[in-house]
Amino acid sequence: MTRASSPVRVHAEITGIVQGVGFRPFLHRLAAREQLTGWARNTPAGVELELEGEEAAIRRFVQTVKTAPPPLAVVEELYLHRVPPHGGETGFVILPSTAGTAATLAAPDLAPCPACLKELYDPADRRYRYPFLNCTDCGPRFSILRALPYDRANTSMADFAMCPDCAAEYSDIRSRRYHAQPDCCPVCGPRAFYLDGDGKQQEGDPIALAQQALAAGKIIAVKGTGGIHLACDARNESAVRRLRQRKHREEKPLAILCRDLETVEGFCSVTDEEQRLLQSPRRPIFLLEKRHFHGPESFSCLSENHRIGVMLPYTPLHVLLADGSSGGPAAMVMTSANLPGCTVILDNAEAVAGLHGVADGFLLHDRPIVNRCDDSLAAVWQGREYFFRRSRGYAPQPLTMPDASADGILAFGAEQKGGFAAGKSRHVFLSQHIGDLKNAETLDHYRTALQTCLRLFGVRPRALVSDLHPEYFSTTEAKRASSAMQLPLLQVQHHWAHMAACMADNRLDGRVFGIVWDGTGLGTDGNIWGGEFLLGDLHSFRRVGSIRTIALPGGDAAVKQIGRTALSLAWDAGVLPIAMPQLQPLPGRETLLAMLEKDIRCPKASSIGRLFDGVYALITGRTQAGYDGQAPALLEALAEPETAGRIYPTAYQTGTDSVRRFDTRPMIAALSTDLAEGVPAAAVARGFMDTLCRMALEQCRALNPEKLPVVLSGGVFLNLYLLRAVTRLLEAEGYTVYSHHRVSTCDEGIALGQLAIAARHLHQ
Ligand code: ZN
Ligand code: ZN
Ligand code: FE
Repeated sequence: MTRASSPVRVHAEITGIVQGVGFRPFLHRLAAREQLTGWARNTPAGVELELEGEEAAIRRFVQTVKTAPPPLAVVEELYLHRVPPHGGETGFVILPSTAGTAATLAAPDLAPCPACLKELYDPADRRYRYPFLNCTDCGPRFSILRALPYDRANTSMADFAMCPDCAAEYSDIRSRRYHAQPDCCPVCGPRAFYLDGDGKQQEGDPIALAQQALAAGKIIAVKGTGGIHLACDARNESAVRRLRQRKHREEKPLAILCRDLETVEGFCSVTDEEQRLLQSPRRPIFLLEKRHFHGPESFSCLSENHRIGVMLPYTPLHVLLADGSSGGPAAMVMTSANLPGCTVILDNAEAVAGLHGVADGFLLHDRPIVNRCDDSLAAVWQGREYFFRRSRGYAPQPLTMPDASADGILAFGAEQKGGFAAGKSRHVFLSQHIGDLKNAETLDHYRTALQTCLRLFGVRPRALVSDLHPEYFSTTEAKRASSAMQLPLLQVQHHWAHMAACMADNRLDGRVFGIVWDGTGLGTDGNIWGGEFLLGDLHSFRRVGSIRTIALPGGDAAVKQIGRTALSLAWDAGVLPIAMPQLQPLPGRETLLAMLEKDIRCPKASSIGRLFDGVYALITGRTQAGYDGQAPALLEALAEPETAGRIYPTAYQTGTDSVRRFDTRPMIAALSTDLAEGVPAAAVARGFMDTLCRMALEQCRALNPEKLPVVLSGGVFLNLYLLRAVTRLLEAEGYTVYSHHRVSTCDEGIALGQLAIAARHLHQ
């Protein structure tokens, strides 16, 4: 063979859904076609390979992997770097997986594959309408896993002995079910059953009984892969209201499960990218834009936002339940069945007891849930998932790091959105969605998930890292573990960890300019931060910019009673007489004002989250916050219709600490005047957010003259209007802007940043 140029060799890593989907044979065929030598193997995070040959051939190879992978595969990332050529290889080989069974082990729960769906609807197939069919390409994984190694005996399928037919498939290398651990059929596998509201089992087809209940406007509990949902027909408004009342969830948006893409398109506008991701086997809930913000199909009882959370069926059971040909609803509300203040329900008996009076019926099955895994929630941003919650379908698949420096580091995360990260060689295992650690049962979930992660993936901690906040439950856990295991504990400032999380998310290593906006985090000066501009890297950071502090009368009470924050902002800006008449009556107003004037029990926070609360209260007149994140979400919704606002005046002061602070007063004064003069709320909301974007740009100009890469992090950037506008504005000025893709921008993603910082500190 003659070559036009000398051979080159590359090392590549591919992440995404690249295991159990015929990916390595595909690479093998492709390498042969392009006359490339080398190898490929599975790793816990995906596939790793080396290729040697002509440069143009390698380029074609990579192009094909990216643009025409096997039908079920999802190539999310492909990292490539050159290595010295070996010479002397004769072909392309598949090597054994690294870390033994870890590859299959780390697999998330995936939606039924096309081949299984075909069987589900084939009357001649022995798995016709069987709600638990699966194969090596799809089905439950993480949620049924008890221990290592990953074989049936160590899953919750252990009690189901395979019938001869299934056993034959299992041991036939030509079968799609070769070594499929959860392989089963109606003869040998789990069964579904339907119970009435009192827990009495009903005669008949359980799916049909559940469908009849839904059609009659009832609320039923449905046991899925990683948890139990409460469901009702989404188009039945009175059923939805009943569900809200029974769940004590009056305002928070509810997600819906739609039968198919067509149904989704009936009431949401869906881009091509959203379509692709909605149908991916990971099946998260995606926030999609409603087609009609007002009117009959607005689903206003589900979400007063302009977006609505939508997913497609993610197990065969849900496929059957939503099937229209047997009377299933086209769209049903799906909300996790745990009630406020109650333990998380995974078990059948607990469900029947705990949901008595809440659910009118129960569609359950006899396969136990081992690992709780809630639905993932994301929006689509820059063609990829932008996580509000990274959980089912993603956890516990690890992220790949550039090197193994995070090996043995255990990061405990924050508190209100708890989540941990554990390093094992070059991989980082992130927890599934956990929730607010201030709830005792959520803290239990956190502890269990942490122990499970260490055990399943063989992580041996050698260093621990937590937030700086001494009262976070995660910090307490870290301190306890540190003394119990005699391990060093590093405590990392909250917003620096956010910045580092976005760096690690994007594999950035050098100096960056961080714009970190969130609700609250403890600063190095003992104050509450949350509107920060940081300069630094994984080694150290400096706070160079922030916003004028907001006094919070009564402290934490202001987080719920956002009217207090509005009062404080208006008082600070000297516009009380203009702003107050539009606010709903605020209990104890005079006392609160006295507290502000005398500076008693008024902790200060430089938080954009709190600024949103206050401005939201000023604009809408509401004095009570509904749920966490409501103010940013609703201001976004309010501003979205094309109502251009004006940009309010900006001003800055640099204190003795050299921190350049955005002065909120001129903006608050101007927007209060606008509101008093009857400028529409939508225009003011838009103006407020555009002013924040302008402020980000002005701070960037002043504080980042070197034009270092800009990273955006913090829960405020769940506001997609702000995310888009800040990115666009800074990019137009020539800045490179990074935001989150692999972990959430909110506190759930913070553990990754803690881990990255600890890794740097251990290896300096
Ligand atoms: Zn399948
Ligand atoms: Zn069987
Ligand atoms: Fe935060």
